[in-house]
Amino acid sequence: MPDFVRQIPVGDNRERSVCASCGHVDYENPKIVAGSVVSHDGLVLLCRRAIAPRIGFWTLPAGYLELGETVEAGARREASEEAEADIELDGILAVYSIARIGQVQIIFRARFAGEPAFAAGVESQDVRLFAWDDIPWSELAFPSVHWSLQAWRDSQNSPLGAPRGTPRSADGGLEAEANGSASFGPSRHDAFGASA
Ligand SMILES: [Zn+2]
Repeated sequence: MPDFVRQIPVGDNRERSVCASCGHVDYENPKIVAGSVVSHDGLVLLCRRAIAPRIGFWTLPAGYLELGETVEAGARREASEEAEADIELDGILAVYSIARIGQVQIIFRARFAGEPAFAAGVESQDVRLFAWDDIPWSELAFPSVHWSLQAWRDSQNSPLGAPRGTPRSADGGLEAEANGSASFGPSRHDAFGASA
């Protein structure tokens, strides 16, 4: 086992975990979340989480990008895993920097690749298409789900412009996403919890 100590490496300006034996620096950087707002005829796809955190709350198909994977492939994979949906990406809807929990979320606008077909994947209790007025706003898992849906609504009938950014008032002041381990992360990535 490496024996890490906290110190500022030579030429650096932040404290890092450095191996006391060999000097290897264990850089910790934000994780990237890829997700999508998938819609069909004005309805949006939401997944009811079957895993911690926020079990039973509704979220977008989204999760941590894997090494060797493009962000587009990650968004499609998450839709396949969580909603058993085959999707096509329209473009980037929003990029949210959630500095408090070390995440950058890249959210696409997307549609079904063919006729709408979806089902609850292993990480979901339920998957449904919601009309805007039927979205369970008080049961959304994370603030960024709310932001993403609003960004989708604002862009719904127009070409995608520049991606939306993190709401000014929100960065560093998030509730669910800031208090502890709340994230899009699937359970197999619970390493995230260690740094939250
Ligand atoms: Zn070492």
